[in-house]
Amino acid sequence: MNRLHDLLARQLEADELSPDVPPDPAAWRNLLARVAGAYGQADQERQRLAQERDGAVRELEALRRERESIESRVVERTAELAASEARFRSLALLGSDWFWELDTQFAFVSTSGDLPAAIGLAAEALIGMRPWDVPGFEPVACDWPSLQAQLDAHEPLRDVVVCRQLPDGRLGYASITGEPRFAADGTFTGYRGIGRDITRQKIAEEKVNRLAHYDPLTGLFNRTAFFQGLEHALALARRHNRSLAVLFVDLDGFKDVNDAFGHGTGDDVLRVMGRRLTQAIRGTDTVARVGGDEFMVLADLVDDEGRLREFGQRLLDTIAEPFVLDGQECRVSASIGIALFPKDGEEATTLFKKADVAMYRAKESGRNSVAFFSVDDTPSAQDRVVLGAGLRRALDAGQLLLLYQPKVSTHTGVLTGVEALVRWQHPERGLLPPHAFIPMAEDSGLIRAIGHWVMQSACAQAQQWRTETAVPIRVAVNLSARQFGDEHLAAEIARALAETGLPAELLELEITESMMMAHPDRAAATLLEVRAMGVQVSIDDFGTGYSSLARLKKFPIDGVKIDRSFIRDIVTSPDDAAITTAIIAMAHSLRLRVVAEGVESRAQVRFLRERGCDEIQGFYYSRPVPASKILAIAQRHSAPRLRAVERSA
Ligand code: C2E
Ligand code: MG
Ligand code: MG
Repeated sequence: MNRLHDLLARQLEADELSPDVPPDPAAWRNLLARVAGAYGQADQERQRLAQERDGAVRELEALRRERESIESRVVERTAELAASEARFRSLALLGSDWFWELDTQFAFVSTSGDLPAAIGLAAEALIGMRPWDVPGFEPVACDWPSLQAQLDAHEPLRDVVVCRQLPDGRLGYASITGEPRFAADGTFTGYRGIGRDITRQKIAEEKVNRLAHYDPLTGLFNRTAFFQGLEHALALARRHNRSLAVLFVDLDGFKDVNDAFGHGTGDDVLRVMGRRLTQAIRGTDTVARVGGDEFMVLADLVDDEGRLREFGQRLLDTIAEPFVLDGQECRVSASIGIALFPKDGEEATTLFKKADVAMYRAKESGRNSVAFFSVDDTPSAQDRVVLGAGLRRALDAGQLLLLYQPKVSTHTGVLTGVEALVRWQHPERGLLPPHAFIPMAEDSGLIRAIGHWVMQSACAQAQQWRTETAVPIRVAVNLSARQFGDEHLAAEIARALAETGLPAELLELEITESMMMAHPDRAAATLLEVRAMGVQVSIDDFGTGYSSLARLKKFPIDGVKIDRSFIRDIVTSPDDAAITTAIIAMAHSLRLRVVAEGVESRAQVRFLRERGCDEIQGFYYSRPVPASKILAIAQRHSAPRLRAVERSA
């Protein structure tokens, strides 16, 4: 028999039993009870252990799940981090062309991106170098020592612009931004940052700057830059008690060059003159182009008028040197006005204006001369001169305009034509009537340019009406004495008609008696020429020139306009009534059309109708109006007001 388990052997011994001796019943029962008890205990123990084990397993399972979830969170976070870092890097690289890091000694430890190559540097060659060791690398608005101080102080860098000369000689620019890095314990570990290539932006900035300060045609300073320079020079002159001279140089007759040779040639002339002026001044002086054919010179350290006059004359001489245009030798002259600081003014604008005034005076006193601003100028004379200076620009600035005043048939009320009347829309003084500027334009010779503009505009307008309405509207243009004396008048009129396409019959010229009487023979020849084209001619302001109608017989004309000074009082003054009646009758006997101007009342209309006057013009029918109003007036065929006169007559 196998050896008994120790526990069982001890149990049998305790109960005085032996494996070899059959037990008595009582001892046997006792043994069985103990064994059953032991089994029961063992069962309970096993159960308890199983329960404990199950708890441990569950706990383990929970732990495992927690670990898994932590792990997956870590994986997720890591991926997120990697993605965001990649995003950041690519964004940083997109927004910048360079990613760099410096160590604690400010030497490059890493760089990536294209910028170094763009400014002619090999990225690898940068490693180990400090920014100020990089050959040709220079800050633009500061210097390396100040930047180094900033780095030493561990301050961030914001948009520091550096440049480097490229192999082709141009400059490449970069904008650098960076910040210090610190370890968790706060120790400084170096710098990290980005850089952007801003070369194109810099070039654009320079271009804008050039446009803002330089005249693109001549490369000289422009008006704005000249003013800034003048302000600056004035500040210095005030501080050091020095004087300054401002010279206004205006080319004479430049408009003619433009008209005759075209704008391209005009531009060439301006370039040549700009160069000549630059060569004629000293290095400390400044020259600028401040308007179409206007230049300004700022001369330093001159208060001797004699020497200034010499200087001005030298400028005139250099301008007047001949040059070749289209194979022809040409020359232009100029007029120069000079204003002095502090004698003539303390402020830039005052000096500018007074030099302009003096220049205008130089023009008036015969061109190609120098004039100083004069304190003797009375305010009104000065005013006139300032106005005259402005008028020279009014044409180019589009400040002139034409109004049109209808003329109507006294009998039918039908529109027979319009008179073009010029106005100057002055920027400060408002709408100026002709008498405020035409006499001045006559004196200065500007009337030619103005007259030319009026002729072209009026013809173009009449031609436009022609295309817009079935009834043609004749336009009358006033000529000034100087225009009428111009030998090119007929050619100019022919050109205006040809260029606009207006038939000659739809153009009428208004000239005064005195204009004709000044040079009767020439006048007659000119009138023959224009009438041969088919253009109509009327005598304006008739009755004021004391010339007899008999003398007018010699002139080829179509009509007369009775001056409004007679019309004004025809109803009350028997003299004026008699004169007007006589003019109408005599004009008719010469087969001339008669227009009464300045008609303001119904009584005047009735008087004129009774005397057989052909046409009337005046506020009674219409004031001078913009061109846009004329068609509506032309369509008022019935002319109700005149019919009312007819009924009451
Ligand atoms: P004008 O040729 O005798 O023109 C008629 C003037 O009388 C115009 O004055 C007109 O507005 C004004 N007027 C018309 N109806 C009446 C009225 O019923 N009552 C009064 N009190 N006045 C009336 P405006 O426009 O001031 O022109 C004045 C002068 O300026 C013109 O006299 C003309 O000699 C001249 N003018 C106008 N335009 C030009 C132009 O383009 N070139 C030239 N050289 N001279 C012009
Ligand atoms: Mg007139
Ligand atoms: Mg008149």
